[in-house]
Amino acid sequence: MTISDLLALDRKHLWHPYASKTSPPPVLPVTGASGSVIRLADGTELIDALSSWWCMTHGHNHPAIMAAVREQTEKFAQVMFAGFTHEPAAELAARLAAVLPPDLDQVFFADSGSVAIECAAKMAVQYQAAAGRRDRVRLAAVRGGYHGDTAGAMALSDPDGMHTMFREIMPRQHFLPRLELRFEDQWDESAMAAVTAAVDECGRDLAGIIVEPVFQGANAMRFFHPGYLRGLRRICDERGLLLIFDEIATGFGRTGKFFAMEYAGVAPDIVCVGKALTGGAVTLAAAIASRQVAGTISAGSPGCFMHGPTFMANPLACAAGCASLKLFSSGQWQSQTAAIESQLKRELSPLRECPGVSDVRVLGAVGVVELTELPPVETVFRVVRDTGVWLRPFGRWLYTMPPFTVSPEELSRITGAMRILTETGSGR
Ligand SMILES: *Cc1c(COP(=O)(O)O)cnc(C)c1O
Repeated sequence: MTISDLLALDRKHLWHPYASKTSPPPVLPVTGASGSVIRLADGTELIDALSSWWCMTHGHNHPAIMAAVREQTEKFAQVMFAGFTHEPAAELAARLAAVLPPDLDQVFFADSGSVAIECAAKMAVQYQAAAGRRDRVRLAAVRGGYHGDTAGAMALSDPDGMHTMFREIMPRQHFLPRLELRFEDQWDESAMAAVTAAVDECGRDLAGIIVEPVFQGANAMRFFHPGYLRGLRRICDERGLLLIFDEIATGFGRTGKFFAMEYAGVAPDIVCVGKALTGGAVTLAAAIASRQVAGTISAGSPGCFMHGPTFMANPLACAAGCASLKLFSSGQWQSQTAAIESQLKRELSPLRECPGVSDVRVLGAVGVVELTELPPVETVFRVVRDTGVWLRPFGRWLYTMPPFTVSPEELSRITGAMRILTETGSGR
């Protein structure tokens, strides 16, 4: 297929995420990828500053992950998970249990992050019903959060965010105020007063609380103080509520801890993981519950958890997940994310002085430049082409979440492109 045939077919038939079908933004034809680099059909190489939507932690086409998938394709690609089990799923569940807090080891695999969130929400409702509290059917989520694009996940995302037009098809949930204290602020226990009051206003139908630990991603791109997580744990314990952590973006080292919850030293009752679970190679997610939650649900009516995705625990995806966790177990991600953090701080902090920049924040392998106004799409594409760095700002945020394997030189090119885009955007 020639490049122009490919682009014509794309234009004719394909939808892209959050893009118009009739006047779509440009798309770049990809023919290969390795390490930090995405290769285009015309030979151009772009540094993937976004780890392809925050997933590709070990870099593209990591040989160990590709080999694990290839090896599994020699055995079998898929089997229904009702009535069957297999080694890739069992090994991955055991590997996840080994890196999570002790009691959090009942693994329910799903096929995407949003579906894992739906599962966690259903688990919370089923748990409360099984414990004899049938009126507890809603969750409380934190303003500024993002939990996915399916109806149940949208309903838990920021109520003033990008999904307001779907309000009528979303289940009604409760919302807690923004967690204002920033990651680096001094903790002040009085910060919990507004949160506690909001929880108590929710009423008797509250089943649990969901939050992205420490880093609120797609709807806020900001880091809040881990003290809030300890406060939420206490609130939930006192009221018999379940605490759900959405580690889909933060899990697997992204914020500098293997799970962001480790900054607070607290464990939830259910944790959701996704994105980097397979090192970004294949889609896979999981809702992982404590033994107490799984036991209570199983002891109640109808005696099982009522969910079952067709491609649950897909063997190819689980094989990729095992290979990814094996790579993480070397511990190298720690020095990689620490080095990325200090370089991002050093190279992005000066942008604070640029006109049009309202904030610069860095934690682990996440660097965010908050702008008063985003440059037009055409400007972004021109800078991407000129610099060879793949950036895709959205909302008010220009950001990077590079592969952990990014080299210092590649990272400097990323921050350089961010600087050019910041300066161009502010009209200099
Ligand atoms: C991306 C994301 C999701 C949704 O995951 P999908 O795989 O896109 O469905 C949920 N929660 C958080 C925090 C995310 O970043």
